Amino acid sequence: MNILVTFDYEIYFGVNHGTVDKCIIYPTSELIRIAEIHKVNFCFFVDSGFILKLAEYKRTFPQLEKDYASIIAQIKYLSDSGHDIQLHIHPHWEDSYYDGERWIINTSRYKLVDFNDSDISSIVRRYKNILGEITGKEIFAYRAGGWCMQPFRKLQKAFKENRISLDSSVFRNGAYSSLQYAYDFRNSPNKDIYKFDDDPIVENQDGYFTELPISSIFNSPIFFWKLFFLGRKNPYLHKPLGDGRAIPAPGQRKKMLTRYTNCTVSVDGYNAQLLEKSLKITKKKKFDNLVIIGHPKSLSRYSILKLEEFIRKNKTTHSFTTYTNKFKIDK
Ligand SMILES: [Zn+2]
Repeated sequence: MNILVTFDYEIYFGVNHGTVDKCIIYPTSELIRIAEIHKVNFCFFVDSGFILKLAEYKRTFPQLEKDYASIIAQIKYLSDSGHDIQLHIHPHWEDSYYDGERWIINTSRYKLVDFNDSDISSIVRRYKNILGEITGKEIFAYRAGGWCMQPFRKLQKAFKENRISLDSSVFRNGAYSSLQYAYDFRNSPNKDIYKFDDDPIVENQDGYFTELPISSIFNSPIFFWKLFFLGRKNPYLHKPLGDGRAIPAPGQRKKMLTRYTNCTVSVDGYNAQLLEKSLKITKKKKFDNLVIIGHPKSLSRYSILKLEEFIRKNKTTHSFTTYTNKFKIDK
């Protein structure tokens, strides 16, 4: 089995966005530590719009100069050590700015499809190029910010122009919409890899794009109640390492606490408890790929311990690998 442990590398986008050190640098350094002990690689989908914003403001604000330098150095180190650096687009950076003390994050255009065609094309090109410049490597895989990439028909041309040929955003049966979010992956193929062209949930064998969906698991409300109480009982172990807050997602918590929900297989916080079970389910389905999502900012001490335990147990039988190592196709 190919096991792709993937992380969306970003700060928070709520009113309290948190610090670069606590949301990104420190938790990622913990991942590097584990990777080096066990000689495995991870994949990082980097929110490169943030890097472009830091570059824009760093001359005026010394704190940002420091944030910029530590992010660039860490990404370079990750890439040079064989971890994958790939593209994660949060286009709301286009409308956001730094006021001298904090980022004023405007998420009124949260989805890439909220922009017009020429903006989309420029965002994809600029956000991709900066990662190529930092790593010196080809960037070809994508994860949509907040899973929002529909209708994909609006993005298809810009992605082809920039040779972004692999997507890893879909999770089977996931669906949500709010003021900022809109995604609907109900009816996506029950497969661990497939081709598509103008719609990531419709298989098309002649399509330009490959979809490697994030693995998903059906989860009971009891699991989330446990999570809720554990967090209160032992915050040292269960509190996220990141020091910010997410954009509100109305209705999500109530839904999870009251009925069975389809969730991504995740290493964030208490979700890491399900890694072993998710691997078993994936094997049972006879899939070859398990794609796990995580965010450095949402890791907890507990989830780091669980991830390491999962790797220790499975690294000889399975391959903890990257998109570049297993799925790179020259286009
Ligand atoms: Zn993100």
